[in-house]
Order: sequence, then C-alpha cells, then structure tokens
Amino acid sequence: MAWKTLDDMDLDGKNVLIRVDVNVPVENGKVTDTTRLDRISPTVLEVLSKGGRPILLSHFGRPTRGFDLSMSTQQVVPALSQVLNRRVHFASSCIGQTAREAVDTLPDGDVLLLENTRFHAGEKNNDRGFAKDLAALGDVFVSDTFSTAHRAHASVAALATLLPSCAGRLMEEELKALTNSLSEPERPVLAVVGGAKVSSKLVLLKNLIGPMDKIVIGGGMANTFLAAQGHQVGQSLCEHDLQDTAREILAEAEAANCEIILPVDVVVAREFKEFAENKVRAADDCPRDTMILDAGPDSVENICNKLEDVKTVIWNGPLGAFEIPPFNTATDAVALKVAEMTEDGQILSVAGGGDTVAALKKSGAAESFSYISTAGGAFLEWMEGKTLPGVAALDDTK
Ligand code: AMP
Repeated sequence: MAWKTLDDMDLDGKNVLIRVDVNVPVENGKVTDTTRLDRISPTVLEVLSKGGRPILLSHFGRPTRGFDLSMSTQQVVPALSQVLNRRVHFASSCIGQTAREAVDTLPDGDVLLLENTRFHAGEKNNDRGFAKDLAALGDVFVSDTFSTAHRAHASVAALATLLPSCAGRLMEEELKALTNSLSEPERPVLAVVGGAKVSSKLVLLKNLIGPMDKIVIGGGMANTFLAAQGHQVGQSLCEHDLQDTAREILAEAEAANCEIILPVDVVVAREFKEFAENKVRAADDCPRDTMILDAGPDSVENICNKLEDVKTVIWNGPLGAFEIPPFNTATDAVALKVAEMTEDGQILSVAGGGDTVAALKKSGAAESFSYISTAGGAFLEWMEGKTLPGVAALDDTK
C-alpha cells in the first residue's frame, strides 16, 4: 500500500475536510487531556499555512440515538482553539444547510469544527449517501485519524473514495512507525507482548510469529504458557483451557525460527494488592497458595540480554500487574532499557495499544521511545495483520 501525503496535494484556497479524533476526556465541561488535540495540530496548521481552509470532522463518544448534548464536539472548541492558537468556529451539524453556511462564511485563517459525525446513522453504516453529503463540503480530504482507521465508518472510509485524499501528518507518522516496526523492520526485531490474557492476544501472537525474530511473552499471559509447560502456577491468572493453544504457539514459533522468551523467575504474592508481601521464585516453583504478579530479576536480565543485538522493538502490554507497585518493576526495568537503547540510537522502538501507553508513561520511559501510538484498537488490529478500512481507503496504488 502507498499513501499520498500533504506534500502531494494542492491546498491553496481549498476547503479541506480533515477527519480528526477530538474524542478527548472532558470533566465538568473542561477538556482534561489535550494529547489528541496536540497530535492533530501539525496537520491543521500546515493546511492553514498552505492557504487551505480546515474543516474538521470527528466523532465524540458513542451516541446511539442521534443528538446528545453530552457528546457534542462543541465542548472541545475552547481547548482546540487554545492548542491551535487560532479561532475555531463550530457548526451544529456536519451536513446540510447549516454546515454549508458555516463553510461558506469561514474567514480565511480560521478553523471550522463540525458537529459529531456519529449523530447520523450513516456514519457507522459507512453509508455512501452520508459520505457524499460530507464530501459536498470540501475539495480535498485529509485523514488524520489512525485511531479510528479500524472502523469502516463513512467519514473514515467511504469519504476517502469520493474526494482527492491523503494522509495527514499524524496518520503518516503512525503508518511509518508501524511499517518500520512490523511490516518492513530492520532486523533482528523483537516484540514484547504482555497483558492479562492469552485469549485477547491470540490472533496477535499468531500473526507475530512470522515477522518477529523474538517474542517476549509476559504478564498474566505468560502464566498460561508456564502452565502449558507443566509448571504449577498456583492462584495466578491463567487460562488453563488454552494450554493446548499455548503449546501450538510454541511449536509454530519453533518451526518458524522465532524465539519465544518466557519468564525464568517470577514474583509471587498471596494477594492482588499494592505492596502485598512478595517473593521471587523460579518460574517452575510458584507455591500453590500464591499468584504470579510480575516477572523476576533474572527474567529482566534475560530479556535485556536478548535485546542486545536487536534493531527494532514493538511493544504491547505490561510484563506484570503494573498498576499495583511493586509489580511494575519488570515492566519499568525493561522499558527503561528499551528507552536507553533508543536514545543511544541502537534501536527503533514503537509501542501502543490498551494499557501499554499508561504502563510506559508510569515507568518514565515513554518519552524516549521512537514512537508511541495514540491508537488503541487500530494499533492492535494492525499488529494482528488486519486490513484497516480507513487505511485501505487511502491506498494510492489501486
Ligand atoms: P491488557 O489490557 O491485555 O494489555 O492487560 C493489561 C492488564 O494486565 C493490566 O491491568 C495488568 O495489571 C494485567 N496483568 C499483567 N500481568 C498480570 C499478572 N501477572 N496477573 C494479573 N494481572 C496482570
């Protein structure tokens, strides 16, 4: 696949429809985290600097029955205006006469934000008629929402086929990071896959065996693998019914020459709570009345050794119950090692999906990673090898 970027488009004097993700957390009417707004700002400002008139489209929340004030994009206007340092106008509908008038009267140099696309049933149905109504407002379409690219929604997928389209800077960054870490990585490439359950990461694990040279399996997931190897895991989170699947994965990996790295020692406790009394035990020696809550120091050392010759790291999921100290220790130590190697220019490191960003931020390592994806579900689906409708729609090779 290949994508046009802002460099390929003539934006001067054009109405530029930009699909963004302004679905930010709001408390008492105030935006509490502007990360998503910060990330779309380069695209919007570049469109302005090239003489374009930015018309922003976004969803907000998951409305089920049309208009819902609590999910209006209007509440984002003040924060967006502050982040962009531009006047942001608002249209109370994303289609029809109201939207048309707002577009026609938008002063040059200002930005227009349209109302929540999900207030229309056509959005979720990827309805071509609704997409045509959106397309009527613009001359060019810029998709800057990798985080919703896994959804076949009208403003993400169908719209891209109706106007000259390209990827925005954030989308471009995400696609580059994922291509460089998963599709065309510099080798050897190592994946860290952690988190709670094997069942939620089965497709992902199977898809990684081919492209990866090494896979570190950690967190609760690793317990299922330890049990599959005949080890006692006591009260640990473990999907005993997936032991056959775990053995299949190990066999597939061996056949594909992909090294699976499991914990060699573990941190066990009797209770799942902060600062619970804990002990380090060998991975095959978890007492019956305890649970594994983290990887042990030898496991960390082993993982760090395995990282030594690696050129690329892709990371999803924590190595332990990172929310309750001290069971964040292994995640933090490995994350800091990856951060240090990244800073030294030894590796490219990409992380994303679910709790990963929170875990890496907590460790203080996130800042030094080459790329932290803002996308949750879309990042995981890409790692699972799925075609994302919002990316496929931008494919320029068709
Ligand atoms: P996921 O959303 O699949 O990435 O899983 C993240 C969750 O896995 C976090 O809430 C962690 O606390 C949890 N987790 C990681 N390791 C363990 C473990 N050994 N036992 C219980 N929960 C764990």
